[in-house]
Amino acid sequence: MFRALFRALPGKVSNGLTATYFTVSAWATVGFRGAHSVSQSDTYPKMKVHILPALSDNYMYLIVDEATKEAAIVDPVEPDKVVRAVSQEGVKLTSVLTTHHHWDHAGGNANLVKQVPGLTVYGGDDRIDALTKKVSHGDKFSIGQLNVKCLFTPCHTAGHICYFVESPGNTPAVFTGDTLFIGGCGRFFEGTPDQMHKALIDTLGNLPPETKVYCGHEYTVANLKFAQHVEPDNQHIQSKISWSQQKRSKQEPTVPSTIGEEKLFNPFMRVIEPSILKHANTQDSIKAMEFVRREKDSFKA
Ligand SMILES: [Zn+2]
Repeated sequence: MFRALFRALPGKVSNGLTATYFTVSAWATVGFRGAHSVSQSDTYPKMKVHILPALSDNYMYLIVDEATKEAAIVDPVEPDKVVRAVSQEGVKLTSVLTTHHHWDHAGGNANLVKQVPGLTVYGGDDRIDALTKKVSHGDKFSIGQLNVKCLFTPCHTAGHICYFVESPGNTPAVFTGDTLFIGGCGRFFEGTPDQMHKALIDTLGNLPPETKVYCGHEYTVANLKFAQHVEPDNQHIQSKISWSQQKRSKQEPTVPSTIGEEKLFNPFMRVIEPSILKHANTQDSIKAMEFVRREKDSFKA
């Protein structure tokens, strides 16, 4: 929508007045796009993760291997912003890690490939724009000396992939798209409660607890308000809400969390816990997953 406005305006620049209008609008447009959070970088022993806010609440992530300066971008929906970050950091972008085919994640792929020829575009779904390498569960590749493992986590979409990045001596990280959010999970658009159960409890839940979680959207405060409704006595939720609200008041991202942390406050990661089973009035954690997701779908904080 904002891009369309930007394109439509130059036609109106025919006199001084509209030219001024164009300048101000263009500035406001650029200023608004991606302004939901400040950009931030996280430094680990062997890698850097640049958090690039996009659209109204999306995150793109530039992952840099410190040893070789090779880089990958996760879900580059705003390609121009990615190209700027790549040149600012002086890194060599070689791949695109697409979590799923939704436009706010994969919609920038084709344009980015035009600007940076030769990119390998990874993803687990034929509907992903500009896909060059279709991956499935357990597939491995590298970004310089960083190892990437593909984790198939269908449910939000049928071809959703999370990317687990690790290397010896480094802090592991997982890029979870719209499967796992901080304090929540994605809607079940193309899957079932047992698929999300498998994704969160078995696949992501078995990663090392120190694994950093970088998700696709800044939904943390709203997610935690729902978590609080599900578990009013859970102190981990209370303190994460205060922390997140403080972060958001400064427009700072609430990513990353860790897998270990999520197990303390995320109701969808906790469907195997007695408190959640009791809330859902069942002994079956898959039924609890279904119950909690349905409740969240219509929850108003
Ligand atoms: Zn999505």
